[in-house]
Amino acid sequence: MRVKKELWRSYHWQIQNRVKTQEELERFLRLLPEEIEGIKRTQGIYPMAITPYYLSLIDPQDPQDPIRLQAIPRAVEVDERVQCHGEPDALREEGEIPGLTHRYPDRVLVQTTTFCAVYCRHCMRKRIFSQGERAISVEQIKQITQYIKAHPEIREVLLSGGDPLTLSYEKLELLLSEIRKIPHVEIIRIGTRLPVLAPQRFFDQKLLDILEKYSPIWISTHFNHPKEITPEAQEAVENILRRGIPVLNQTVLLKGVNDDPQTMLELMRSLIRIKVKPQYLFHCDPIKGAVHFRTTVEKGLEIMDYLRGRISGYAIPTYAIDLPGGKGKVPLLPQYLLAKEGTRHVFRSWQGELVEYDIQEF
Ligand SMILES: *Cc1c(COP(=O)(O)O)cnc(C)c1O
Ligand code: SF4
Repeated sequence: MRVKKELWRSYHWQIQNRVKTQEELERFLRLLPEEIEGIKRTQGIYPMAITPYYLSLIDPQDPQDPIRLQAIPRAVEVDERVQCHGEPDALREEGEIPGLTHRYPDRVLVQTTTFCAVYCRHCMRKRIFSQGERAISVEQIKQITQYIKAHPEIREVLLSGGDPLTLSYEKLELLLSEIRKIPHVEIIRIGTRLPVLAPQRFFDQKLLDILEKYSPIWISTHFNHPKEITPEAQEAVENILRRGIPVLNQTVLLKGVNDDPQTMLELMRSLIRIKVKPQYLFHCDPIKGAVHFRTTVEKGLEIMDYLRGRISGYAIPTYAIDLPGGKGKVPLLPQYLLAKEGTRHVFRSWQGELVEYDIQEF
């Protein structure tokens, strides 16, 4: 595709030109039979939308390209086996107030829209894709801020989605300013995958002005593969950091995409190179329509074990799994303390040596 540079660098152009049908997609790629069937069978259930930018990262020669696997539907999503395993809302996010999940005392999660630049095939909220593209209403903003006001224990508001930074300037500013009026809210966290899916969003000074105005804001983004760390993504992150907004990353462990130690090492190393701190590596949740991306906990632990010692401690995320029934996240760590008798401890070093260590309290 040949497009003028100004258009390519425009977020609105990227959104307006999202690829949503088989015919459009076939202008860029030769589709596999399971993709053609997947696009047909997921219609109206888990729709497809891909920004030209994200599409351009796909290697057309590689049927297992990690971007391709994250963006183009395959028939397996609606296979009976994948549909029977998993639940639409395995983490029990839906509660009393629509769009609000208050699981941990000090922080609350707000679902601000059902819209995303790309509909990721592994999304833990793919249940909302078929609800149509709807942004939070002024009435809902009122309801949610009333709830937060009534709960002084809430110190952090986590804006999630869909993608909150796809909201209009007006809606975003209304939401941020209403939250900022609440004295006990200390930080606002925005979960956005736009640095990965449409980094052009952050070439827009007006958006950056709004974010800077409601400081302290933190951004959590979602890079899953080293191929996603492009010059554009780096430029986006640089622009965010320049406004005093820290950027952290949450990766999901995905079979066939990044479930291999060397790929994960390259991803984490590339992230700190662009000054993004890897926060979490999540074990993939049992979400209806996405369980084919799940691998084992052993695989995750093997990857964590591989990272330790081989890359900067900055680059090592916390591997975590969300417990079923809304019981929250727990960290998972390879075993390093192998035995303990009194004050005598036996550790395993990152190179696999056994090390005895007498640790006494003074
Ligand atoms: C993950 C999550 C959070 C944030 O947890 P952190 O460990 O602070 O990242 C908050 N609320 C809900 C409902 C969550 O699922
Ligand atoms: S951007 Fe995030 S919320 Fe949207 S589809 Fe992708 S993973 Fe899901």
